Amino acid sequence: KAFVEKILRQRSLEMRDQQQAWQESLEGRRMLEFRSSLPAYKEKEAILSAISRNQIVVFLSNQTEEGETGCGKTTQLPQFILESEIESVRGAFCNIICTQPRRISAISVSERVASERGEKLGESVGYKVRLEGMKGRDTHLLFCTTGILLRRLLADRNLKGVTHIIVDEIHERGMNEDFLLIVLKDLLPHRPELKLILMSATPDAELFSSYFNGAAIMKIPGFTYPVRTHFLENILEMSGYRLTSDNQIDDYGQERIWKMNKQAPRKRKSPIASAVEDALRAADLKDFSLQTQESLSCWNPDCIGFNLIEYILCNICEHERPGAVLVFMTGWDDINALKEKLLIHPILGDSSRVLLLTCHSSMASSEQNLIFEEPEDGIRKIVLATNIAETSITISDCVFVLDCGKAKESSYDALNNTPCLLPTWISKVSAQQRRGRAGRVQPGECYHLYPRCLHDAFTEYQLPEILRTPLQSLCLQIKSLKLGSISEFLSRALQSPEMLAVQNAIEYLKIIGPFDKNENLTILGHYLTMLPMEPKLGKMLIFGAIFNCLDPILTVAAGLSVRDPFLSPLDKKDLAEAAKSQFSHDHSDHLAVVRAYEGWKDAEMDLIGHEYCWNNFLSAQSMKAIDALRIEFLSLLKDIGLVDSNTTSCNTWSYEVHLIRAAICYGLYPGICFVVHNEKSFSLKTMEDGQVLLHSNSVNARETKIPYPWLVFNEKIKVNSVFLRDSTAVSDSLVLLFGGSISKGDGDGHLKMLGGYLEFFMKPAVANMYQSIRQKLDDFIQN
Ligand code: ADP
Ligand code: MG
Repeated sequence: KAFVEKILRQRSLEMRDQQQAWQESLEGRRMLEFRSSLPAYKEKEAILSAISRNQIVVFLSNQTEEGETGCGKTTQLPQFILESEIESVRGAFCNIICTQPRRISAISVSERVASERGEKLGESVGYKVRLEGMKGRDTHLLFCTTGILLRRLLADRNLKGVTHIIVDEIHERGMNEDFLLIVLKDLLPHRPELKLILMSATPDAELFSSYFNGAAIMKIPGFTYPVRTHFLENILEMSGYRLTSDNQIDDYGQERIWKMNKQAPRKRKSPIASAVEDALRAADLKDFSLQTQESLSCWNPDCIGFNLIEYILCNICEHERPGAVLVFMTGWDDINALKEKLLIHPILGDSSRVLLLTCHSSMASSEQNLIFEEPEDGIRKIVLATNIAETSITISDCVFVLDCGKAKESSYDALNNTPCLLPTWISKVSAQQRRGRAGRVQPGECYHLYPRCLHDAFTEYQLPEILRTPLQSLCLQIKSLKLGSISEFLSRALQSPEMLAVQNAIEYLKIIGPFDKNENLTILGHYLTMLPMEPKLGKMLIFGAIFNCLDPILTVAAGLSVRDPFLSPLDKKDLAEAAKSQFSHDHSDHLAVVRAYEGWKDAEMDLIGHEYCWNNFLSAQSMKAIDALRIEFLSLLKDIGLVDSNTTSCNTWSYEVHLIRAAICYGLYPGICFVVHNEKSFSLKTMEDGQVLLHSNSVNARETKIPYPWLVFNEKIKVNSVFLRDSTAVSDSLVLLFGGSISKGDGDGHLKMLGGYLEFFMKPAVANMYQSIRQKLDDFIQN
């Protein structure tokens, strides 16, 4: 022990000298100059003293009207701790972990901090995200995703050797962060020397402080320049339109219709006025209505939104002062669609005038460095971003912000047990942060593409993820960490989810196999906890690996995780449909994706992938995303030993369509409905919803007959009726063998339906035979 101590002391001395040398170098001094301009730097001493005096401290940026991020919490605080440990010759003894909600921010922040310290990544500063990392023997400050820290807890409950844990961006209230806080709350009393630092970009620090029995709170004052704010009515007004509301929202959330009326024409039009006019003309909107949260489908960003954005961007490029533009879009798919539109625009697509970049959580880390670079003089940087740029990534030279007002939010309807990922209006706090992004370097401008009163109806904060998403993965994690009873554990969360949601998740996990009757992990469950994805996708992949049909299953699972690759432009619906029908002879949307992907892959080999997409109305972006996900899924399976890392031969049966159906059925059950044929067509029934309908995009929606008695589906959406988005037809045998177990009376409604069906149609001997094969198969898969 003394020997180790001596080595670490020696190493600490070296670290101190190295740090000093950097700080005294020319580059180092220049960097320090930048760092000391950040508001957080001015509080350095106070921050360090707060940390040394308290076991737990909550840091937040002091909000002003303009919102306040980019003050240096993420890049500076962890660095202050490291520097001060190094200065006091404890460098080699400290071990700081800073969690980030997304992989992309873990990587980018670690790169930034390493370069601020004049080092390469993997020296004193490193990062670790799933399947990727840069961490060396001397790494004492590690940025990682929250998921990585949770996994580490699996192996090491006491986080031995860790001296500081910094949980960043807690205001986002992601599921993993809330989960981590419960675990840490239990751990801290046993580890009195472990420091916990929480960082938030919103002012709701009291919540976290009181959760940790009155932890210290420290505000970091920031600074923003004023931002001129335009709401939709102001933007329209510039072109002589007036937005009037016909009826108000009442307490029951009745819709409020907005009408746009043309006022008397103005004498002299501002450039933006004619731009907006053109946009409206292009969108052929004489009169558009905009409704509240309850039915926002009517506000179609594809229509007016894109044109409006294009014209505002164009106006900024032609008439405004220099400065980067940040456009907040709903999600990755919108970003890509808009990007494609802008690239063919004469001004915005001209790379000698505009540098068009995207910023979202699935971009490559190499791509994102461009975001921070200042473009050459005369070139305007435009970044299309998701809400990731709200707080976690700061684009420092930003002067203009466009905010479409929405973000994709996963949500969950506990009553109907229906998960959804839908565009939702953002919260007031998010809108404020988006706006604040414009005022970081000089006075800025923000265009909110929605009316002010809609903004006033936004909720104050977004609902935490744990309260709005299905809890299956979380329940699996709780079990794999051996944290005891799920409901008891979750009742100690910052805000506990509804009991019904917890029960549903547990029931679901019992039905699909990872839990046994007593809520204990089965072997299947054990493997699923190692696959960070929805359990149903994990199940399919495991099936594909076991039954040697992995290739198409990788595509199915990837296809379920990306946007529908089949495009259907309004003006070419028939052609698009004809193109899709080439892929859809299996009565399966999932197999249609497999066939389309395989065609694309061949075309890519011949370097005509883009043409192939164009001719077949396929989204090239989705194809590429599927391609990337397939690789990721495969390496996960290799990681956990289900696929031999040297072989690619798990594909002996990849051309057996029935086996692929079986895998899909195995994954998607209990998403299943019964096909009732009548004379001319058929109708569909599920246990919970009764009659359901097929979404018009489904390949099965065009059929008059389905040659199988069952459809399994991934997603159902409740609009007025319940719609199935996607489906694959499967036979009795497949449902009996790979759906729920057919023993009756264990409380699963589906099984009763199946059991009843069986009794009606099958001889008991046949049913028994199925049951015994099923048992063997279950054992086979489980073991
Ligand atoms: P906060 O966490 O308080 O929102 P950050 O620590 O993320 O703030 O960012 C502080 C400042 O550091 C930003 O305003 C930006 O100017 C700069 N910065 C952050 N990341 C990078 C980067 N990768 N490249 C260049 N500058 C960066
Ligand atoms: Mg931050």
